Amino acid sequence: MNKTKIIATIGPASKDKETLKQMFLNGMNVVRLNLSHSTHEFCKEIISNIRKINKELGVNIGIMMDLTGPDIRVGTFEDGEAKLNKGDKIKIYMEEIVGDNTKFSVSYHNLIKDIKCYDYIKLDDGKIELKVLDKKDNYLLCEVKNSGMIKDHKSLNVPGIKFSRSFLSDKDKKDIEFANEMDIDFLSLSYVGKHEDVLEVKDIFKKLNNNHIQLIAKIENENALNDIDEIIRVSDGVMVARGDLGVEIPMERVPGIQKMLISKCHTVGKTSIVATEMLASMENVIRPTRAEVSDVANAVLDGTDAIMLSGETTVGKYPIETINMMSRIANVAEADINYLDLLDKTMRTEKQDITGSISYSVVECAGRLKCSAIIATTKTGYTARKISRFRPTCPIIALTPDEKVVRSLTLSFGVYGKLVKEMKNFDDIMKNAYDISKNDLGINSGEKIIITGGYPLELVKSTNFMKIDEL
Ligand code: PEP
Repeated sequence: MNKTKIIATIGPASKDKETLKQMFLNGMNVVRLNLSHSTHEFCKEIISNIRKINKELGVNIGIMMDLTGPDIRVGTFEDGEAKLNKGDKIKIYMEEIVGDNTKFSVSYHNLIKDIKCYDYIKLDDGKIELKVLDKKDNYLLCEVKNSGMIKDHKSLNVPGIKFSRSFLSDKDKKDIEFANEMDIDFLSLSYVGKHEDVLEVKDIFKKLNNNHIQLIAKIENENALNDIDEIIRVSDGVMVARGDLGVEIPMERVPGIQKMLISKCHTVGKTSIVATEMLASMENVIRPTRAEVSDVANAVLDGTDAIMLSGETTVGKYPIETINMMSRIANVAEADINYLDLLDKTMRTEKQDITGSISYSVVECAGRLKCSAIIATTKTGYTARKISRFRPTCPIIALTPDEKVVRSLTLSFGVYGKLVKEMKNFDDIMKNAYDISKNDLGINSGEKIIITGGYPLELVKSTNFMKIDEL
């Protein structure tokens, strides 16, 4: 049982039920549906398959949707592609045209107003660079700085630009309603530029009476980095979206930013996710490179909650094997995490509330007494997340009668939600803890566990007890 959670983006290579089931059995915890590429029909099919697997196996795979957000894409080209040559002039039109090697169109028609002469435009994740030479009535005149092939609907980035348009498009608003209807668990927000963007989505969910979906801010440009503390404060977690981040800022800055974001999230108890190109070569070959293995392991050693696959599982040849490899790398790396250091850091930054104090003591004792598991009753998931923040070496089993809470914990480091019947008294808690320890975790007599939670069950507002037991 890995502590680091694995998210797999779903696409044609992974959409059928048997593949999804095998991906789960090999270590996947959460599926991601990217609304930039997936239709509502496709999402419904995957969600239905996941719910069937959950029922069949008695598990709870989490579901994340990823909002398109204010991205910009090029239009279409004759034959679907065009070769752009270094030194050539090219026109970018603000209205729909069919492109070739002298012109193409762009999905954001106000680009011409927001951009300045001499700004740089990056196409297809930065593979081709253009320099804006002039602004005409309805097109931008640019110079191609390096040659390359461009295909229909590839990405277009303008590093450092502040767009005049609003954060959410009409499509995003419909997608948010769809996410609400489908009762998913996590919504990741692309191109968040400021904390107000997250608050805008939060407000919509408030109006929809949905306080369950957790919001993950994708950090993929300099604007987001400039407001990072506030973005983390108002979000449930952040994703280090290294694909776009490495286009928007010099890519050599990305590793340092990854470490900084994981550390900031850990300090304040928010979820962190490291994404993109983690095992990219496994899209085509069955073995990753040594550098990719190191990349996955280093994200785990930095203390991230979750690691994510994109192309590897959407269109790659080996979605199941890639999950298996990621899980094996994480499993080995977890043994080398400096748990004491992480505990020390979180203890120093812990607010002095009762749940925090008990959680710290639970983790400290679990380490000192080499406990095999922490069993925590939790109504909202708060206690389990709080314990996770202190990074115990043993697994945290969160007992809750609420299926949504179980699913909401699928991204939290070391936490495994367990759906149980409503517990009425202390004896119920103890019976559940013992049964799960023996039957689910295979804990032997003589091993120690810690049981924690809030009691009396319906009355108490915080975690207020811990019990250390030898089985
Ligand atoms: C990224 O840019 O790294 C990312 C995760 O975003 P997406 O996969 O949605 O492009």
